[in-house]
Amino acid sequence: MTENTRAGLEGWLRYADELGLGPYYRDRAASKSFPSAPAAAPTISVAATASAASAQFSAAAPRRSPQSSAPEAAPAKLTPLIQAPSGPSLFEERIENDSLERIRADIGDCTRCKLHKARTNIVFGVGNPKAELVFIGEGPGHDEDIQGEPFVGRAGKLLTQMIEAMGLKRSDVYICNVVKCRPPENRLPEKDEISTCSPFLSRQLAVIRPKVICCLGACSAQTLLETNQGISRFRGEWFDYRGSKLIATYHPAYLLRNPPAKSEVWKDLQKVMSVLGLQPKPRR
Ligand code: SF4
Repeated sequence: MTENTRAGLEGWLRYADELGLGPYYRDRAASKSFPSAPAAAPTISVAATASAASAQFSAAAPRRSPQSSAPEAAPAKLTPLIQAPSGPSLFEERIENDSLERIRADIGDCTRCKLHKARTNIVFGVGNPKAELVFIGEGPGHDEDIQGEPFVGRAGKLLTQMIEAMGLKRSDVYICNVVKCRPPENRLPEKDEISTCSPFLSRQLAVIRPKVICCLGACSAQTLLETNQGISRFRGEWFDYRGSKLIATYHPAYLLRNPPAKSEVWKDLQKVMSVLGLQPKPRR
């Protein structure tokens, strides 16, 4: 075997390893006894390609851990993440003719996670089912739990003011949360609760197909972007989420505690307005 041939073969083997096909090429004798093996190969390669597509991001930003008090990882540039959530079609089952009504019916009187134990009402989401703009918080609070509607407490009133300052009405947008039941003592939703409930949010977004998703606070941003990086590292930047433009800004509850941050949030909202072609509400 010439040096060139050898180098070429080694290159192909490295490539096969990256696709997860290394064992197939190395153990071809064994594969001969399984005639169906070649048919299975494309499945392997799709999954492996998916992993490869998100690997750059995963390496830069390990999976989220909302309750973790560990110091954040070293700063990592999020740019590759813009390409990461490439869409549900390859990796998630699409539901034919899905609708918000059907999603709500599927949730039913949900007991899938432990948050059901203390809730009063499931808080599904409200607003325009064809909204160009969707706001997503982390989970219902006390007032929301009682009324069954997201963002109706003090933070909700501030969100309404923010929406109106953008020249919109609350009924123009859609508002929902990552988890549909109130976490006790208004704690952050836990990882298992988020992973159990967030598929409903994915379906809501797939049905509404908004032009812009505005994540309110770290929890929703970290969930959709699949990162555990602090929100301050990527707040105000644009990402692609399955065809929608996604931006993260601070949660209105944070603004109630820290009013000077309102100016930062307003800058983020102005970016949203620019994408949606909105004019700010004139001051009286
Ligand atoms: Fe079900 Fe979501 Fe409520 Fe958990 S938070 S009980 S998954 S609706």
